[in-house]
Amino acid sequence: MFDYLIVGAGYAGSVLAERLASQLDKRVLIVDRRNHIGGNAYDCYNDDGILIHKYGPHIFHTNSQEVFEYLGRFTEWRPYEHRVEASVDGQLVPIPINLDTINKLYGLKLTAFELEEFFKKVAVHVEHVKTSEDVVISKVGQELYEKFFKNYTKKQWGLDPSELDASVAARVPARTNRDNRYFTDTYQAMPLLGYTRMFERMLAHPNIKIMLQTDYRELEGLVPYKEMIYTGPVDEFFDYTYGKLPYRSLEFKHETHNSPVFQPAPVVNYPNEQLYTRITEFKYLTGQEHPKTSIVYEFPKGDGDPYYPVPRPENQEMYKKYKALADAMSGVHFVGRLATYRYYNMDQVVAQALTVFKKIAGEREEAHTRQAKVDSDTLQLAHSFAMAHKLRTNGHSTQIHRAS
Ligand code: FAD
Ligand code: UDP
Repeated sequence: MFDYLIVGAGYAGSVLAERLASQLDKRVLIVDRRNHIGGNAYDCYNDDGILIHKYGPHIFHTNSQEVFEYLGRFTEWRPYEHRVEASVDGQLVPIPINLDTINKLYGLKLTAFELEEFFKKVAVHVEHVKTSEDVVISKVGQELYEKFFKNYTKKQWGLDPSELDASVAARVPARTNRDNRYFTDTYQAMPLLGYTRMFERMLAHPNIKIMLQTDYRELEGLVPYKEMIYTGPVDEFFDYTYGKLPYRSLEFKHETHNSPVFQPAPVVNYPNEQLYTRITEFKYLTGQEHPKTSIVYEFPKGDGDPYYPVPRPENQEMYKKYKALADAMSGVHFVGRLATYRYYNMDQVVAQALTVFKKIAGEREEAHTRQAKVDSDTLQLAHSFAMAHKLRTNGHSTQIHRAS
């Protein structure tokens, strides 16, 4: 009998497994349908002995001391500040757009003050900044938007920036100084021995059992547990009752080259001409020395493994319905990027998981407050899913709160 069945061994699942086992002495079974732990942050040595990120570049950055120190229990850190170049008009220039970008692109010698004036001149007035197009044109104008953002975004999301929330493009700021770092967070570092090693140490507690290449639905009726932590796609959990939530996917093309260096920066973005969005060269990220070098191309696509929730109002509307269902189920906690349909970075998922843990550890009245918000149709539907889980769990566990 397990106290918790945890679906997914990425950040959300692993942090909760570690906390529940080490702090509350719970017995935890963590399952993943992939053949490895770490979720999308998984890294491994390829056939040439180069450490690569299987699911594309993962760079750790956070402003949260709590998150940084928490993960620091399971890894040493290698200081690393990420830098990205964009291939625009036949040359490589730094992105986020900054003073050096503009001077190189236009062959100018502007000062920071002059660049501020330049941006003011070209910026488009937008009354209410709502979309990714708005957020960029209102800062740097139409031309830079078209060179750096429009096509990259269309390629990455299969949508025009005007169809995406402002928060997407707002991840990449514009600067008037010469700071060419991709992130400005207080803590920027890579796990010294890689992400997977860090996850192994997180999950090494004797109360935690790991089952790989297993979909949790395969355990129906076989493994009893009291509560579930679910970190997979939320629409899948509810059998797409309200329709399919769009998640954007990627095809990764990994290559190893017989030379020590492939490109002049850790990541080069290709907004315009290519079918791929970016190329990453891993040795910059990991600090590994090796006579060969490994890179990955990212080709965005609509179907395939779900990697990115797609932030736009209609998707949020559909997610809200799933969230209402999820909130109406006690005994199942929905955590992480896919289960809460949020475009979260690694540190945000860790923070979310730590918060869920604190709730689990601290509160029982929480469920009472949640139940009051649920309407009767949602409650009914949640009840049927709860019943299904009850069967799967040999009658122990998932229950639904009655409306008050
Ligand atoms: P996941 O890592 O997706 O883990 C969920 C796990 O659940 C998966 O392993 C899946 O196999 C498993 N699962 C799902 N359904 C089932 C089921 N039915 N049964 C069993 N198992 C199941 N963040 C950063 O901070 N910095 C970066 O540089 C960065 N780069 C990124 C680059 C790319 C290309 C992508 C896609 C993401 C990037 N991220 C980055 C985001 C980061 O990957 C996520 O924030 C984080 O990995 C999410 O963790 P999670 O546990 O929520 O989900
Ligand atoms: N973006 C862009 N051009 C770039 C870099 C980013 O248009 O050169 C936009 C694009 O919509 C992208 C978003 O900004 O999806 C966020 O970029 P980020 O690098 O944070 O994406 P991630 O690493 O999450 O894929």
